[in-house]
Amino acid sequence: MKKYCFGIDVGGTTVKCGLFTADGDVIDKWEIVTRTEENGKNILPDVAQTILAKLEEKKIQKDEVVGVGIGIPGPVNENGEVPCAVNLHWGYTNVAGDLSALTGFSVKAGNDANVAALGELWKGGGAGYRDMIMVTLGTGVGGGIIINEKIIAGSHGAGGEIGHAHVEDNMTEPCNCGSCGCLEQFTSATGIARLAREELANTDEPSALRGQEITAKAVFDAVKEGDAVAERVAVRFGEYLGKALSVFSIVVDPQIIVIGGGVSKAGPILFDYIMGPFQRYAFAACKETKFALATLGNDAGIFGAAKMVL
Ligand code: ZN
Repeated sequence: MKKYCFGIDVGGTTVKCGLFTADGDVIDKWEIVTRTEENGKNILPDVAQTILAKLEEKKIQKDEVVGVGIGIPGPVNENGEVPCAVNLHWGYTNVAGDLSALTGFSVKAGNDANVAALGELWKGGGAGYRDMIMVTLGTGVGGGIIINEKIIAGSHGAGGEIGHAHVEDNMTEPCNCGSCGCLEQFTSATGIARLAREELANTDEPSALRGQEITAKAVFDAVKEGDAVAERVAVRFGEYLGKALSVFSIVVDPQIIVIGGGVSKAGPILFDYIMGPFQRYAFAACKETKFALATLGNDAGIFGAAKMVL
């Protein structure tokens, strides 16, 4: 009998859904709206409803379904419970228990960043490896640590929250987490733009970055054109990230570090700036750690969610 599973990735505006075979082939993927009104009470019933409707549509029997994996934007404990998820307007929610009761399937829940990391390990930039650190450079900096193909969520659900590692004492502006000098403040898309504004303010040198909206993309586009100011921004970005990754690598000793998120669209040029500092500071045994770009984009979450139940 053919076996199937569902991978669900709940975001603040849409829920991404995937129907997979047990081998990891995508049969269908679709989205529904995340209804966050009334403390998000409709979100799990909506997910259950779309899953059951898909089974009907594809003529799949319930006993052919291995289970449902679901990623949630918030901390998730081992039992699939969420103390709160701000973007979903949730207080305490037993995600695994409730969705299991609504569908009749076995359900595993995880934090969305960790689940996306598992997806990249299974079918993306980390495919073929077991031990990986995933770094997501977006508006913020997220992460996920996978050891022996399992997510390390930690005892407070904070495992892999590498964006809030303290990397700079001389920073007075607060991070979103309330601390100062977090990795996220220098290596996220907004952090890179901040570094660029600082560099521009410190010099009269001509630069393609002047007179345009400064984004991480604009910075790396200018680096590719040989812009000296942008180049210095990239060097500072690489120092912060490469050095931090050398520290994380001695804690976790991964086979591979995968870089994803919007900033990773700059491409392999990122490694030109990260690898030097990483190599300089990494412990000898960790210098061979491989680096790769994420490949699944926004689909990483549904892949990782599916993998959780297989
Ligand atoms: Zn922080």
